[in-house]
Amino acid sequence: MTRLAEATLPLGVPAVERIAETTESDPFQVLVGTLLSARTQDRTTDAACERLFAVAPDVHVMARLRVDRIERLIYPVSFYRHKARHVKAACRILLERFGGRVPSSMDELLLLPGVGRKPANLVLILGFGSKANICVDTHVHRISNRLGWVTTRTPEETEQALYQAIEPRWWPRLNLYLVTWGQKVCRPIGPRCSQCVLATVCPKIGVRSRAPLPAASR
Ligand code: SF4
Repeated sequence: MTRLAEATLPLGVPAVERIAETTESDPFQVLVGTLLSARTQDRTTDAACERLFAVAPDVHVMARLRVDRIERLIYPVSFYRHKARHVKAACRILLERFGGRVPSSMDELLLLPGVGRKPANLVLILGFGSKANICVDTHVHRISNRLGWVTTRTPEETEQALYQAIEPRWWPRLNLYLVTWGQKVCRPIGPRCSQCVLATVCPKIGVRSRAPLPAASR
């Protein structure tokens, strides 16, 4: 994990981590950024959040925006129509049930539209500084299985297995490390095992095709 932490440092941080850094962990903007980031490239999420938060930085202003305005502001994030509706509906629930605050418990976060365990964990970690959660997305699920840390079929199973397999001090950072690694090195297809700092300790479980060595190193 230490190797991974050092190797990911120069590679930049994923979009939602950047939002948390620039907003001093404002739970509302972290929540919205998390909703927009699903299945969307980081730079698209970044740009969409910048446009949206310039117009509506908090729940009160966002709740007054029409859905079609939110759509235009966040386009071209994937599923922008669905996500605009989720953002609008989430704002209504936050105002009606939580006094305009983002709730800080898993059960309450799961009441919000579009929020499953993955985004809820990310909001708890990045918006509330929780050290007791692991956020598992497709990268974390894939790499944890390739490394043999867990043997699981779904991200939900992986999250529970990782609580047993990984020391608690790494839990809040695991998503950051593995998402960055999954985007740049341990890619779904053609992982760059020859350039990976974990290559000597990784059993590469389930890896069928690896990226070819660069010409100079053959
Ligand atoms: S050695 Fe290959 S499979 Fe293992 S973590 Fe690195 S890139 Fe992924």
